[in-house]
Amino acid sequence: MINNLVCAKNEIRIIAGPCAVEDDKQMDKICSCIASLGLKYVRGGAYKPRHSPHSFQGLGFDGIKILKSNCDKHNLYSVSEVVDKKSLLESKDNIDVLQIGTRNMTNYSLLTEVGHVTKNTEQAVIFKRGMSAKISEWLMACEYISMHGNGNIILCERGLRSFEDSTRFTLDISAVPVVHRQSLYPICVDVSHAAGNAWMVPDLAKAALAAGADAIMLETHPSPKEAKCDGSQQLDLESFKNLIFELQMLAKAIGKKIV
Ligand code: PEP
Ligand code: MN
Repeated sequence: MINNLVCAKNEIRIIAGPCAVEDDKQMDKICSCIASLGLKYVRGGAYKPRHSPHSFQGLGFDGIKILKSNCDKHNLYSVSEVVDKKSLLESKDNIDVLQIGTRNMTNYSLLTEVGHVTKNTEQAVIFKRGMSAKISEWLMACEYISMHGNGNIILCERGLRSFEDSTRFTLDISAVPVVHRQSLYPICVDVSHAAGNAWMVPDLAKAALAAGADAIMLETHPSPKEAKCDGSQQLDLESFKNLIFELQMLAKAIGKKIV
């Protein structure tokens, strides 16, 4: 069920799920929580671009299959990152929304390939900002995808490398109004990778909503302490639910709906 992730003006899309797909039970718990909240998009990495080659690298194609079967079971759309040609080919017919991560923003041959492979499919691509990229460079890079055939792009701000080390990355919330002014593409804010700490995620999510984000990406896990990657920034399912309730109230106050 390939979805084009159209971001309606009065809706804020929540894209939530674990950093990485780990096993069937984990994904079943997460998908059932997301579905019970009336949300539609589940993220989960199968090909993980890690700083260290010794860290968990993701389950690869097995992860894609676990994500797909659980999304099908709970009637949800899947979102997952592609990192190269192999992962793109393994994902394209099994994943609804493809994601390009911050480390690949300038991988122009990957962007070209994603544009080609998804040409005329309307399959949405989440295109993250490079952690050291200017907005102008990011907006120019996304044209590698659009000019090769797919203009269904959702830009995603996920924090910048800066001198500040009390957060994992410095969330550039100003990117939201700048993108709205300079681009026609919707903008998502990934608050989890920017924060690096779960306790900060709710405040940043509310900031993203207030700034006018079209979508918010959040990491959540049934047992963050046992997560195979990014455990410190993942919300447990109870905290995730509470945050969604708060976001629903805030959205209502500005005439929008969380979906
Ligand atoms: C992710 O969303 O799983 C991820 C690795 O994010 P980023 O590319 O922003 O680091
Ligand atoms: Mn992560």
